[in-house]
Amino acid sequence: MSSEQRVRVAVRVRPLLANEADHACSLVAANASKGTVSTKESSNDAASSRSFQFDTVVEPEVSQEDFYHMCGLRDMVGAALQGVNISVMAYGQTGSGKTYTMEGTEDEFGIVPRVMAETFSELDMRQERGVVANYEGQVSFLQLYNERVLDLLSLSDGKVRGAGVQVGSMGGGLGYQTGLALRYDGAKDSFYAEGLTTPPVRTALEAMHYFHQGIAKRVVAAHAMNAASSRSHCVFTLDLKITLQGKGGLAEQVVTSRIALVDLAGSERASKTHAVGAVLEESISINKSLFVLRQVCIFDRSHA
Ligand code: ADP
Ligand code: MG
Repeated sequence: MSSEQRVRVAVRVRPLLANEADHACSLVAANASKGTVSTKESSNDAASSRSFQFDTVVEPEVSQEDFYHMCGLRDMVGAALQGVNISVMAYGQTGSGKTYTMEGTEDEFGIVPRVMAETFSELDMRQERGVVANYEGQVSFLQLYNERVLDLLSLSDGKVRGAGVQVGSMGGGLGYQTGLALRYDGAKDSFYAEGLTTPPVRTALEAMHYFHQGIAKRVVAAHAMNAASSRSHCVFTLDLKITLQGKGGLAEQVVTSRIALVDLAGSERASKTHAVGAVLEESISINKSLFVLRQVCIFDRSHA
């Protein structure tokens, strides 16, 4: 990732699923070398074809491993180890492949396990070479549902389930936990969720243990609130504090960084899904947050 372009957009076109192929759906045309995605020309209206340009375009047959490299994730991990905060966000409609890309499957690891593996193996290597004196990591996993922050690593069941029931049914006043308060830390110039569980981790395996624990909880919560996970944002964070070995008589230096890996809520329009009531309320929350996210990314790109 070049320093002058802090936000990069990669588009991954997934293969057609069996039922889509059965329904004679067709893929958009992805051109990796040109970095374009084009909607196919309809046979009777050539002018209807439109082409869109992105930083990276990944064709359907590309493996998880190649996808990881094509998107420059290795460089991003390297930057995080130098003290740069990095975020990877999967954006798209429900069913477009966000969770597959972030989590992956047991045989086809996605971005989260790959970033964890790379981060810790790189840290261990640097420690062996005497570049890093020592390091500390801590993870957190939160779910943002209807503007409420739920702690996926909280050991008390009530936090997630209670908030889920409340939000899903009538949106307040049932006496359940309402989610964590979002606060601003002026000294660090950053936001945090008050009381969020942040266990320490020393290895990728430990980090993934918490990730899977959170995923399991997310499934339970989704059931309790009758909301598919696709209607909430999920943020898995690894905070690092790395002590760099002092060289040539210089003192040790401590760098901190944050790696945030985000599986965003589905971006489908409420008008297209004909949502009403609680589902419409969810859609409004989702679209509001995705809109703000878009503004931030566009601002960042136009001021790079
Ligand atoms: P989302 O999280 O965006 O709702 P999913 O990740 O659940 O979507 O993907 C929907 C379906 O498509 C799943 O069955 C998933 O296994 C499959 N899928 C998504 N991306 C790919 C891909 N690149 N290759 C193969 N299958 C994929
Ligand atoms: Mg998903």
